[in-house]
Amino acid sequence: MTIRKVAAVWAGKGTGALSRISRRGGGTTLPGDVARAIDPRILTRLTGDLSQGSAVITGTNGKTTTARLLTWLLEGVGQRVVSNRAGANLIFGVTAATLSRAGADGRLRADWGVFEIDEASLPRAAGEVQPKATLVLNLFRDQLDRYGELESIAKKIERALAALPETAHVILNADDPRVAEIGLGLPNKPVWFGLDDPRVAGKQLPHAADARTCPRCGSSLVFEAVYVGHDGVYHCPNHDFARPAPDITATDIALDGFDSLAMTIRGTRVEMPLGGLYNCYNVLAAYATACSLGLDGGYIAERLRTFRAAFGRQERIDFRGRHLILVLSKNPAGFNETVRTAVDLAHATNFVIGLNDRKADGTDVSWIWDVDFEQLQNKARVVIPAGNRAYDLAVRLKYAGVAAEEPQTDPARALDLLIKTTNEGDTAHLLCTYTAMLDLRAELVRRGWAQPYWET
Ligand SMILES: [Zn+2]
Repeated sequence: MTIRKVAAVWAGKGTGALSRISRRGGGTTLPGDVARAIDPRILTRLTGDLSQGSAVITGTNGKTTTARLLTWLLEGVGQRVVSNRAGANLIFGVTAATLSRAGADGRLRADWGVFEIDEASLPRAAGEVQPKATLVLNLFRDQLDRYGELESIAKKIERALAALPETAHVILNADDPRVAEIGLGLPNKPVWFGLDDPRVAGKQLPHAADARTCPRCGSSLVFEAVYVGHDGVYHCPNHDFARPAPDITATDIALDGFDSLAMTIRGTRVEMPLGGLYNCYNVLAAYATACSLGLDGGYIAERLRTFRAAFGRQERIDFRGRHLILVLSKNPAGFNETVRTAVDLAHATNFVIGLNDRKADGTDVSWIWDVDFEQLQNKARVVIPAGNRAYDLAVRLKYAGVAAEEPQTDPARALDLLIKTTNEGDTAHLLCTYTAMLDLRAELVRRGWAQPYWET
């Protein structure tokens, strides 16, 4: 125990309390900045206090849901878990999360750390946390302003994973060509997971799919099955690269809109109150990671039935008799899947689509041209473009042949219009980028229909 560590914990915790009192958004990262300034090794020291160790989750889409799933599984066997909040997935956010659970003596009192980490921050986080398990979900192109970074991020992640001790578990998505490239370069064999049900697969890549080429020779990959974005079953026609054979698969997949999914993993039927094919990946990934950490498959299947969706990823709120389903949709791959799930599986007709251009959303919104909003044609009855870039979205929807309502940049007016256009008892889907979701949710909180996020 060093005095510096205790000082860093106290300073960090003090900062957190102050920012909560001043209502600056739950105090999720600033305490981390302060503590790290006093003791740059504070995260390593605090995670060193964990009685069991840490699991780190990275990837473009699904981190928050998968981290919540893994936390849920560990808590179900009586483990105390510390985890960071959604949106605080840089090293400062992780540091702040561990600080918030440290005692006055500077010790972190928990068994496991389950941390979601931004892809670019993984090398640093893995170095500081020394995770027992590291999970890479997928690597999609997040925004246009990050174009071309996929390969360089994949290389960085590969180096970080190669530097982990031999005893560390690495769990990778075999269906994602960029993640496969990472795993095939590692000195130790990772645990590969993948979907295995051609009935729910498409044959064609979405037009904006970003990993179409072989990392070895540059040829176009041949896809036998496409599940989500560029994730599927693929091989290079020159036979120098192919989807690795999965160690753990999901078969017999059944999907029911945003309500539920079911699939068979290692002979056990897993049913979940979560919807969408993309969540099959998250559930399978959490299952594989939990197995690596020693949990029993039968227990996992039982426990998953009772999971509650993570905030805003897929949240249900009743608002003046209307059923709202809030689904975070933050990049082309994510949006394509949430629109597809809403239209094809949930038979949704009423939508609010929220687009903001703040830093957390991506300041260049031209990526909306890569989203296949054409899927809404002739199926959506009401589409309300919302967010501070509602007008850009309205143009995109017009070109997609979708008849949209008047764009609403004010979240209060967007909700008023929703009430006007959606009958009592009907359901509306709110598909929004990160801060557009926060804005709509804040308005629902203001009207007393939802809880502030740091109190849920
Ligand atoms: Zn090739």
